Amino acid sequence: MKRGTLLIHNKHETDSSAGAPTGALGIPVYQTSTFDQAAAYDLERAGEFRQMYDYARSGNPTRAALEETIAVLEGGEKGYAFGSGIAAVASVLGMLASGDHIIAAEDIYGGSYRILNTFYKRWGLAHTAVDASDPENILRALKPNTRALFLETPSNPLLKITDLKACLGIAREKGLLSIVDNTFMTPYLQRPIEMGADIVVHSATKFLGGHSDVVSGLAVTRTASLGADLYRIQNGFGAVPGPWDAWLVMRGIKTLKVRLLAQQEGAARIASWLREHPAVEDVYYPGLPGHPGKAVHEGQADGPGAVLSFKARTHELALRFLGKLKYAAVAVSLGGVETIASYPARMSHAAIPPAERARLGLSDSLIRISVGLEDPDDLIADFDNALS
Ligand SMILES: *Cc1c(COP(=O)(O)O)cnc(C)c1O
Repeated sequence: MKRGTLLIHNKHETDSSAGAPTGALGIPVYQTSTFDQAAAYDLERAGEFRQMYDYARSGNPTRAALEETIAVLEGGEKGYAFGSGIAAVASVLGMLASGDHIIAAEDIYGGSYRILNTFYKRWGLAHTAVDASDPENILRALKPNTRALFLETPSNPLLKITDLKACLGIAREKGLLSIVDNTFMTPYLQRPIEMGADIVVHSATKFLGGHSDVVSGLAVTRTASLGADLYRIQNGFGAVPGPWDAWLVMRGIKTLKVRLLAQQEGAARIASWLREHPAVEDVYYPGLPGHPGKAVHEGQADGPGAVLSFKARTHELALRFLGKLKYAAVAVSLGGVETIASYPARMSHAAIPPAERARLGLSDSLIRISVGLEDPDDLIADFDNALS
């Protein structure tokens, strides 16, 4: 089965969760907090029977359908849904213990950096940030207590590429739990578990949901035993999504292919156009010839995606661009059907201290664009006007 078909046919194309399947093409929204268990108890063998659902933090059929769907799409054993992408990241990091050390790529999502550097640091999880575009840097950062590796590729917002096979190979060899944030690519374009990752995390708020109408997160484990560990945290922390949100993400997933392919086509056109623009100093997009990670990216993903960044010639130009846009929203987030321009230095990456931001190349003239489904001709005209 090809990927596009799998998005629609993944065991949940019809409602199979009820005792008597209705054949409905949509999964019902089980808006309930609890489940009557009286029928599950056999009076003579009390306690021996346990029905599938008892309390909705522990499990809900709508959420379960989403969890099984994302596990199938990522090629893992078990999927888990969370109330946000960062709840998924935080819950997965909760699998580590105080006294452990984690190596993370230095330009991961700002919120992932923040939780490592505040909450988990306070709880005794040490963290080293490395430029993972050179796998050697991971080897150099290893300590006797290193237990995990956290990667994100393409990176946010500079679209740097990490060689997943090389880095995941190091993790495997050194016995590290490997975690990959696959939000930018989605399983339609990139499947880290097939390349050796132990856990994939997602902000389903972005491309999977796809319509800027839901905040949600997902995680998929390579093995059932890692899944059992993560389930204890999902149930124990309780950062779970409600059934409506799970349903919205499932609805989004059904149209992922057409959205992503069209948005990617728009992004490729806009990236090439921006590169020729006199007000633009640099464009970061793994589909552009000359991008330093292009070959590695093409070896591990099926397309460059729909997010790009560019550096305006000056800080003033960047601010003026944001102020003059007509079609693109100026906002955080990405992956929706609407084009969004964001300003990493003041938005998604504001949590990173200014000196560190400068070192990472997150300059005040950097703008990130998530290309939506508007006609690329209109977007180019809008950008041209805003840059001139
Ligand atoms: C948005 C985002 C997150 C966090 O997800 P939320 O749904 O906002 O909590 C994590 N990783 C990446 C790459 C993101 O873009």
